[in-house]
Amino acid sequence: MTTFVTDPALRIVEEKVAAGVALSRDDGVAMLSTGDLHTLGRLAQAAKERKSGKNVYYVLNRYINSTNVCYAGCRFCSFAADEFKERDRVVRMPSDEVFAKALETGTNFNQIHIVGGHDPKQLSLDYWLPLMRRFKEALPHVQLSLFTAAELDYMARRHRLGYDELLATLRGAGLDNINGGGAEVFSERFRKLVCPNKVDAAHWLEIHEVAHRHGIASNATMLYGTIETFEERAEHLIMLRESQKRSPGYNAFIPLAFHPDGNELSSHGWTSGLDDIRMFATARLMLDNFDHIKAYWMIQGLKVCQVALQFGADDMDGTHGSTDEERIYHSAGTSSGQYVDDREFRRLIEEAGYVPVRRNSTYETFPHDWVPSSSAVPA
Ligand code: SF4
Repeated sequence: MTTFVTDPALRIVEEKVAAGVALSRDDGVAMLSTGDLHTLGRLAQAAKERKSGKNVYYVLNRYINSTNVCYAGCRFCSFAADEFKERDRVVRMPSDEVFAKALETGTNFNQIHIVGGHDPKQLSLDYWLPLMRRFKEALPHVQLSLFTAAELDYMARRHRLGYDELLATLRGAGLDNINGGGAEVFSERFRKLVCPNKVDAAHWLEIHEVAHRHGIASNATMLYGTIETFEERAEHLIMLRESQKRSPGYNAFIPLAFHPDGNELSSHGWTSGLDDIRMFATARLMLDNFDHIKAYWMIQGLKVCQVALQFGADDMDGTHGSTDEERIYHSAGTSSGQYVDDREFRRLIEEAGYVPVRRNSTYETFPHDWVPSSSAVPA
């Protein structure tokens, strides 16, 4: 079959990929700015199929933001609330409420995903260890996907613990997976301007690498669409690739598109569909040691995420529960709903030419109609 490559830079990418050579920063910039979307899509789709064949994954999960109290002051954030000045916006769930919320729509799910702010009254081992043990006892079939590296850094400093000790303790209480947030863009320039009070890149990476050594899996993200350059995006991906080499354990990379409502960076507006698609494909091709690229419907929307399945993505993330209330992206203006029925995931995946596969956080797979045994159901 004759294929037409109109961007010579993508010919170089194609040759390197065929030879198994890791892509460079310049290759990343070329892909992020190319007009030759057909070639980019073809290369990314082939890379995806070498990793996961015709499979596209999803998880039945519950999603909870247990607190939005935070004083880190990241400039892209619309979610954080000041407990003294914005009392009507504050969400701070007691642990009983988090537990009840997770079970509100039954027990047929495989993951609980919880992230929140750096809340001095909630982000502590005293709050989390009993709650994690309670979840594990009541729902042994459910994996705990909790915290970001930013939250873990806060908790380590608060308890004066090293990362090793903290993560060993959390693993002992049942932590299965660390969420990928808090990475933003690793560039020092970016962090200084946008999120100076958050864990820096070296410590973000160290936390994930230590977690992997304790048998805790993780994901990684990048927040794109504000002041970062294409060079900084490509460098971010290379730093993740190097981290995976040093301490394997990342399952998925999730590109997070900036949402502009209600934050200090709103003048940057929304990312475009083309930028989103190039981002998925570039990530797939550069992260040759990551098994999965996630198109998270909450962020880019179901329609773009379905297209992303032909540009390197092989995962549509979680259904959420029908009563879940995601607050991070909803505070920032997402028009995605709160919940997607898994039948809709399967329809969209099949229409894109792929096979829907139900999974948990660590990519163990289940028949789509799997249900937990009655012994797993709490009284
Ligand atoms: S992004 Fe996270 S750490 Fe930063 S202000 Fe918002 S809640 Fe706090």
